[in-house]
Amino acid sequence: MEYRILSKSDFRISRLGLGGIPLQRASASEVVALLSAAYDAGINFIDTARGYTFSEELIGQGLQSRRAAFVLASKSMQRSKEGILSDIRLSLKNLRTDYLDLYQLHNVRTQAEWEQVCASGGALAGLLEAQQAGMIRQIGITAHSAEMMAKALDSGLFATMMFPYNVVENQNKQLFATAHRQGTGTLAMKPLAGGFIPDAGQALRYLAADPYVDCILAGVASPAEIEANVRALQRGPLAPEEAQELENWAKQAGQEFCRRCGYCLPCPQGIDIPMVFLLEGYYDRYELQGWARDRYAALPVPGTACQACGQCEQKCPYGLPIPAKLARAAGKLG
Ligand code: SF4
Ligand code: SF4
Repeated sequence: MEYRILSKSDFRISRLGLGGIPLQRASASEVVALLSAAYDAGINFIDTARGYTFSEELIGQGLQSRRAAFVLASKSMQRSKEGILSDIRLSLKNLRTDYLDLYQLHNVRTQAEWEQVCASGGALAGLLEAQQAGMIRQIGITAHSAEMMAKALDSGLFATMMFPYNVVENQNKQLFATAHRQGTGTLAMKPLAGGFIPDAGQALRYLAADPYVDCILAGVASPAEIEANVRALQRGPLAPEEAQELENWAKQAGQEFCRRCGYCLPCPQGIDIPMVFLLEGYYDRYELQGWARDRYAALPVPGTACQACGQCEQKCPYGLPIPAKLARAAGKLG
C-alpha cells in the first residue's frame, strides 16, 4: 500500500481510504470483518459522517482495540458553533473514542452557507474550539461545488479538502492541484461516481494516475471488495491509452449523469435539482432505498413541483433532460 504524508498534519495515510456510506447497510459483524480486512490490507484512513445514520456507531463497534491504527474522520452539516460542537460530542460517543483525527464541514453548498460557517458563532468557531480542547486534531472541508471549494482553498483554513473526482466528474480536477500546491491534503470522494462506473478497478487506477490525489475514498461493503480494490491499485495507474478509452466511455455513458455542478440552479420552484439526482443515485446504486426516500421526504420542495419551464435545461452544460429525469427520480423516491 502506498502512503502519503499530509503536509498540514502529521497524518500518514494510505492512498486508498474507506468511505463510510455503504456501511449503513452492513451488519455489526460484517463491519468488524470489513475493518479487519482494511487493517490487514494496510488501509488506515476511514471517513464517515453524522449524516450516514448508523455508520459511525458500526465503525465504533468494529474498531475495538484498533482505534490508534486508523486516522479517523467524520463530518457534520451543522452550520452553527453550538450545533457542530454537539455533533462532535455525538461522533466521539458513536465512534467510541476521545479524539477524532479529522472533522470536516460537510458539503458547504452556497455563499450564504459559507458566510454562516465563518461568522462568529458559526461552525468554524466550534471546530476551532474543539481542536483547542483536543476533541479533534485537524479541520477539513467537503463540497460538491467547485466555487465553494475554491473559496475554501483560498481561505487557507483547512488541513484537508474532499471533493468528487472520477472519470465522469473530472471537470474540476484542478482543485486537487491547487490544494496540493498549498499543502492541503486532498481526498477524492465518489471515485466510482456513486456506482455509475461499472469497473471499480479501472476507476481507482484512473485516479491513482493523478499525483495530486492523496487518498481515494472508496465505499465498500465487503472484505472481498477491499481485496479487489487493493489488487487493482497494485497494478499501478492506468496507462494513457487505457485512460483515454475510459474517458471515451465516460463521454458516451455520462450523457444522463448529473455531475452536481449546480449550474442549473436556482429553480424558480425551489427544487434542489442536484440533490434529487444524488438521492436517486443512492436509491439505484447503493441499495440505500429507505435512507434515500427519507432524505427525499425531508427536502423542502419535492421533484414533483417541477413546472417544466425549461430554465434549468438551458443552463445545464451537459444537456441533461432535467424535467424528465426529475419525474423519474420522484417516481422512485416519493
Ligand atoms: S424545468 Fe422544472 S426543475 Fe427546471 S427550473 Fe423549471 S421548474 Fe425548476
Ligand atoms: S442537472 Fe446539469 S447543471 Fe444541474 S447539477 Fe446536474 S449536471 Fe449540473
